[in-house]
Order: sequence, then structure tokens, then C-alpha cells
Amino acid sequence: MKSYENIFISSLTTMRIGGIARHVLEIENEKDIPEAYRFASAYWYPTYIVSGGANTIGRDEGLDGVILLNRLRGFEDKDGVITAKAGESWDNIVQYACSKGYTGIEALSCIPGLIGAAPAQNIGAYGQDLSQVFKSAVAYDTATDKLITLEKKDFQFGYRKSIMNTTMKGRFFITSVTIELKKGQMQRPFYNSMEKYIEDFGCTDFSPTGVREIVSNIRKDKLPDPREKASSGSFFKNVYLDPLEAEKCQEKGYPVIRGKDGDKINAAWFIEQCGFKGQLLYGMRVNPRAPLVLINESAGTYANLARARGLITSTVYDKFGFWLEQEPIEIINTKNRGASL
Ligand SMILES: Cc1cc2nc3c(=O)[nH]c(=O)nc-3n(C[C@H](O)[C@H](O)[C@H](O)COP(=O)(O)OP(=O)(O)OC[C@H]3O[C@@H](n4cnc5c(N)ncnc54)[C@H](O)[C@@H]3O)c2cc1C
Repeated sequence: MKSYENIFISSLTTMRIGGIARHVLEIENEKDIPEAYRFASAYWYPTYIVSGGANTIGRDEGLDGVILLNRLRGFEDKDGVITAKAGESWDNIVQYACSKGYTGIEALSCIPGLIGAAPAQNIGAYGQDLSQVFKSAVAYDTATDKLITLEKKDFQFGYRKSIMNTTMKGRFFITSVTIELKKGQMQRPFYNSMEKYIEDFGCTDFSPTGVREIVSNIRKDKLPDPREKASSGSFFKNVYLDPLEAEKCQEKGYPVIRGKDGDKINAAWFIEQCGFKGQLLYGMRVNPRAPLVLINESAGTYANLARARGLITSTVYDKFGFWLEQEPIEIINTKNRGASL
């Protein structure tokens, strides 16, 4: 296990914000995990797992504790049942699956990050999410010091959530993820923006590789490439409504989207209505192509990010009565090892 001291969290995350982490331990092998947690426990250090850092925000005070950097590599495919070590790139797995003609994750193309983090927030895009193909995960349980297998039902998946970012935050280190895919292709109608792209460009190939190309092109046009622009992708979650709220919002003429997973209003719509689209707020650019993405253009500090976030959320609340919820998870200086199962 490689070990580093005094590393800027900004260098480990795509938002490129965050002060110094006292210790960073690189997990390259399952047996490194208990050792890393024992080290943290011996000094009462809080811990935080970073995989690709694409959904993680560091604060200016950094972390007086230990970051466990997930670098477990390798995967195998048994007729569409793919088991990947947690440190495999998510998009490499998608690319592989598409090349084999497997359907189920092609619309999740180009999502940055590693597969170990994918179940934590149940990644989703263009009508697919991980829970639809998720089979199980193996995880190190800090409460029992053992590796256990967690089945799909254990994760309690919801919109951008699972036990890993709610009730059991910090308790498990996922070491591998198994997904189950089938040969075939997605059926139309697709998500609105995909249908529009298909119409505009006359696409006819809806095989997994065809859909991957469509999604990649839409994303290239709308979303910042984390190698060029610092962001965590969607900074705010879409707003899900109960039936009464949905009815009231529709009466007011808000764009309520009725879907299989519930009624929602896109967070981007609220932000745009408040006039923030394209604005530079305390150094954070509200992405002109997809306003729920905040780009760290010159903010530099968490304090500035918090100011921009506060301005957006309070303005949206004052105008519409909804608090926008932040999607990326923050590294905080407290011990949090979840509750018992
Ligand atoms: C440009 C851009 C576009 C994006 N588009 C999308 C999108 O379309 N859909 C979407 O859902 N997300 C999107 N995201 C967000 C992000 O890519 C996903 O959340 C992704 O799963 C994060 O992976 P990561 O490895 O970088 O996670 P990290 O930020 O490293 O970790 C995320 C969380 O998971 C926990 N975690 C990480 N690894 C483990 C592990 N092995 N065991 C237990 N917990 C772990 C971390 O502690 C943290 O709380 C986007 C981000 C960017 C920058």
C-alpha cells in the first residue's frame, strides 16, 4: 500500500477544490483495506474513500484524517455477468459491454469515475441507472472487519441514492461490483434529448455501440470535460414531487415531467428561471449548456463555492419554495461509519 502525506484534496477531485488531507493511502489490494482502517482507528482519524473524485467536494480546511484512494483493478465477464474490481474505470466497462453487444448501460456512457462509486449514488442518465443492472457488490465492512456480499435489495437504491450515501455512509469499502447484462438493444422511445438528436442527425443504429455514440455526442456538446473544466457534473439534484405538489406545480405552469420513477421538475429549469444560466457567481460558472452543472472557473476555494451555492438555492427557494439539494458529497472532518445493518 502506498502512503502519502499532506496531499491537496483539490488534486484528487474533478471540482479541484479542497485543502490538505493529512494522509492518503492508496488501496491496490483487498488486504490493504483493513490495514488502512486500523491505521486510521489507531489515531482516531476520520476516513473518506475517494475513487475518481468526480462526485466529491473538499472543503478549505481539508481533512485531518485519512483518504483511502481506491485503486483495485481488473474485471471478468461470464456471458454478460461482469464483475469488476472497484477501481476499474466505469466508462471502460461501458465501452467493453457495448463492444460485446450487451445492453443495459450504454446510456450511461462517458460518466466519469470508477465502478466502486457507481452504486453509492446509483449513477443514472438518459433513462438508465445502475440499479437496473446491478446484481451485487463485495464490500469490506468496517463494523465487523470482514468482506461481505451485499445484494441489490441491501442497497435500497433510489434516485441518486443508496445506503452508501445515506444510512450507511462511511461504513463499507466496496471492493467489487457485479452487474448483469443481456445481448440486445434499447427500445424507443428514448429520452427526449436523445430523440431530438436522432431526428436532427438521422441516426439509425440503436445497437449498444450506436446508442453509446449518440450519448457521447450529446454529452460532449452539453457537459464540461473534467480534464479541461473543473466540475462535479450535476451539482444539484432534480426536484421530485409528491402527487399534490405535482398537481399544484402543473396548475402554476411549471414543467412537471411525469415518469416511471415519479414526477419531477429539472433543477436546471429553476436555475434558468432565476436568471443564473451562464452567470459567473463567486468564480463558479453556471454552465450555459446545462445550468445544473457548476464549473469552478476561478472560485478556487470552498468558501466561494458555498457562496455561489447559497445564492442559487436561496433565490430558487424565495421564488419557487423548493430547496435544491446538492448532489456531490463533501469530505468532512467527522468520523462517520454508518449504523448497523
Ligand atoms: C462532467 C461530469 C459529468 C457527470 N455526469 C453524471 C451523470 O450523467 N450521471 C451521474 O449519475 N453522475 C454523473 N457525474 C457524477 C460522477 O461521475 C458519478 O457520481 C460517479 O459515480 C463518481 O465516481 P467517482 O469514482 O469519481 O466517485 P468519488 O467522487 O470518488 O466518490 C463518490 C462517493 O462514493 C464513495 N465511494 C467511492 N468509492 C467507493 C467505494 N469503493 N466504496 C464505498 N464508497 C465509495 C465516496 O466516498 C463518495 O462518497 C458526473 C460528473 C462529472 C464531473
